Amino acid sequence: MKRLIILIFSSFLFCSSCKQKPSFIDFTYPDGKHKALVLSYDDGTIQDIELTQLLDKHKLIGTFNLNSGYIGVTRGWPQKNGDTIYQKYVSKDSLFIIYKNHEIAVHGELHKNFTDITNKEILKEVNTDLEILTQLTKREIISMAYPFGSTNDSIAKLISNTGIVNGRTVADTYKFSLPENYMIWNPTCHDSKALDYLSEYLEMDKQELSLFYVWGHSWEFGDTKRWNNMVEFCEKIGKAKDIWSVGNGELTKYLKAIERVEINEKKIMNPADNEPIWINLSTGIEKLKAGETIKIKTVANNVYN
Ligand SMILES: [Zn+2]
Repeated sequence: MKRLIILIFSSFLFCSSCKQKPSFIDFTYPDGKHKALVLSYDDGTIQDIELTQLLDKHKLIGTFNLNSGYIGVTRGWPQKNGDTIYQKYVSKDSLFIIYKNHEIAVHGELHKNFTDITNKEILKEVNTDLEILTQLTKREIISMAYPFGSTNDSIAKLISNTGIVNGRTVADTYKFSLPENYMIWNPTCHDSKALDYLSEYLEMDKQELSLFYVWGHSWEFGDTKRWNNMVEFCEKIGKAKDIWSVGNGELTKYLKAIERVEINEKKIMNPADNEPIWINLSTGIEKLKAGETIKIKTVANNVYN
């Protein structure tokens, strides 16, 4: 009898300690979300005005990659068939209004093809953008899209020393996975294909971080069918409460913050100089602020390996 009482008592103690320490399941995006959306648009032409209004209407965030050398000008782009396409670029005094709710990023001062120019010229293209865009916006500029999507390992490495933390290509993956290299960030698809993948993403319910990464040019929306598709895409994805709409820079910062979190079988510790991060525990979603530690019982996945 005495043995039985001890056994019951120790089981009770064991279970109550289980209750106090939750199990770690996985990292999530803010508010426990597992899905994210990045909308990345290039060139900074005046059609961005209508696009940003559409995004604002649906509370979606875009990353707008600008060529600082063309801000406020009209430029003719010669085409292979002999025609010239004229582009009008947003003016510097309207940057604050147009991109108020959106990220501003680098796209090369003069939109040169990085695989056709020297390292010195590449650095000039990037650093001039960084300097001018920072000066005009008073913001921290950390993202870029490669002009023509052209890059390679050595270009990506070169640019990673400038303060840029992510570089987007145009090599569509048609997947919802996170990139292996933030500096060679291959998107899910161009916006002309985005509707084809929308239902799959809206219905997706995986316990892992995913990303729907759409890119394009607002000047392509002169085609009414494409514009209507974009309106439909934004209306539908804007209603999804489980998708984090985020700029590429903020997303990169968040993913890097997760990488810095220390985790073992007993605790999860967010370094004091880190961003807040969100975790999924057996007891629910928790926000772990910088410098905070949570004691855990077990780790459900071997995420720290
Ligand atoms: Zn471009």
